[in-house]
Amino acid sequence: MHIFLTGGAGYIGSVTTECLLDAGHKVTVFDSLELGHRAAIDPRATFIQGDLLVREAVREAMASVRPDAVMHFAAYALVGESMENPLKYFRNNVTGGIHLVEAMEATGVKKFIFSSTCATYGYPDRIPMTEDLPQNPVNPYGESKLMFERILLWAQERIGIQPVFLRYFNACGASERYGEDHNPETHLIPLIVFVAQGRRDHIKIFGTDYDTPDGTCIRDYIHIVDLAQAHILAVTGDHTGAFNLGNGNGYSVQEVIEVAREVTGHPIPAQVAERRPGDPDRLVAAADKARRVLGWQPQHPDLKTIITDAWRWHQAYPEGYAN
Ligand code: UDP
Repeated sequence: MHIFLTGGAGYIGSVTTECLLDAGHKVTVFDSLELGHRAAIDPRATFIQGDLLVREAVREAMASVRPDAVMHFAAYALVGESMENPLKYFRNNVTGGIHLVEAMEATGVKKFIFSSTCATYGYPDRIPMTEDLPQNPVNPYGESKLMFERILLWAQERIGIQPVFLRYFNACGASERYGEDHNPETHLIPLIVFVAQGRRDHIKIFGTDYDTPDGTCIRDYIHIVDLAQAHILAVTGDHTGAFNLGNGNGYSVQEVIEVAREVTGHPIPAQVAERRPGDPDRLVAAADKARRVLGWQPQHPDLKTIITDAWRWHQAYPEGYAN
């Protein structure tokens, strides 16, 4: 298949591009490079630099490629920033997506694989989380992703778009070549790795008074390569609808730090800090639907492998993509 992939210079987009190419597919990456890295785009892919907010540019790019399917990764994805600047999130994550669907309609492309998030559920009333839980996002980031899911449902009903919503839990780890390089970095595992590399003094634990056995938040960490494989299954099969992508195993912040100490051999000093606003106690996926319907089988479910791969990548590329 030929995939038109937005955000291929970002973390999840770059690894998915690589996995699609390895599986024999063709990829055209459409990315503004505002946040992504040119060096993160697999050289086997075709690259079109462009901004999703420029409607004509999206339309022209799609018409020139005439792909079989679209995978849409490009988005702003920082919860805290979205609370500070909600309109920035709605403009990019919603309006940009609409331009993409308009371009698909003009070109006759139907399949749309959408990077959605467990943040669309807000505070879940059940763990593990199935796809039918109520979606009540608690920040503009999650709301923008939910809005676009709903827009895609109307596009399905009225113009025949075939959407798949992949609701990610905590993406982490790396492939051999591509890994996580955000600026600023806010995610737990890369920040822990920075401490082990001596780039930071300590890791802050955001709250130890949560309703969990050790008091720190529990999340479902999913290896980036497993996440990428789910996209390939979603695009090559005849699917629509929502799929939660996680391992179904929850690990606390404290457990993640302990595994990282074991992997890196570094003491990784930790300091207790204030809770971060909007953090639920637990977010753990029930990914049975993805396993059953997509035939998804995560190959790297254990936290030690995930952290080992993140550590290896950051050691191989200590400046990230800068060099
Ligand atoms: N976290 C932390 N210290 C940090 C960064 C994150 O304690 O420096 C916690 C955060 O509160 C959450 C978990 O680690 O409970 C995972 O956070 P991350 O930002 O990696 O992903 P999120 O769950 O927000 O998508």
